[in-house]
Amino acid sequence: MMKKPVIGVMPLWDDRLESLWMLPGYLDGLRQAGALPVILPLETEEADIRQLYGLCDGLLFTGGHDVDPALYGAAPLPECGPPCRRRDALEASLFRLALEAGTPVLGICRGLQLINALLGGTLYQDLPTQRPGSVSHVMRPPYDRVIHPVALEAGGTLHRLTGQAALGVNSYHHQGIRTLAPALRADACAPDGLIEAVTCPEHPFLLAVQWHPEFSFRRDGASQAIFRAFVQSCQ
Ligand code: MN
Repeated sequence: MMKKPVIGVMPLWDDRLESLWMLPGYLDGLRQAGALPVILPLETEEADIRQLYGLCDGLLFTGGHDVDPALYGAAPLPECGPPCRRRDALEASLFRLALEAGTPVLGICRGLQLINALLGGTLYQDLPTQRPGSVSHVMRPPYDRVIHPVALEAGGTLHRLTGQAALGVNSYHHQGIRTLAPALRADACAPDGLIEAVTCPEHPFLLAVQWHPEFSFRRDGASQAIFRAFVQSCQ
């Protein structure tokens, strides 16, 4: 039997309970695509992170806390949520290891924002106040509904994966990409011009999306295609 690729999944953190948690959709979406997902601990010892990294064939950078604005050289605005510095530290270390080695990376929501910041890009700390526009990016549950379209970059990764020129996506984010990191390319954009997906041409597989395929993969073919392409690249 062929071994399933092991995907290290960034843990979610509950400030109130001071506890790790996880949305099952991240794990289920990966499992449906043929992976063996493993929730990582919030580990800060660099040597331990390196050993954990060695267990993983790919890394999923999940949603969650706002990225610490210090990571992109900004002072926090009142609208910026509290950071989770343990997540930022763990994920920065793991991302740099994956970048060096060409290990496949999938980013979702915060994951996209973190990756952009780590590669030298900047973020809007609060879209409604800093970039008010025609598109509402914060929807109410249930989250497995289409709330805005994204236009896919012709010839880009998502265009190739889905065979479509545009996708309907969910949206649950109050932050977003302000300046794109030099190493990244926009792969999808919302009608208000906000970048909603990125790739890194220098990396074997790096895809990050601003929407939430972990909520929509049960019915949405494009979400399934994203998980499948990621997991296949980890074989
Ligand atoms: Mn959106």
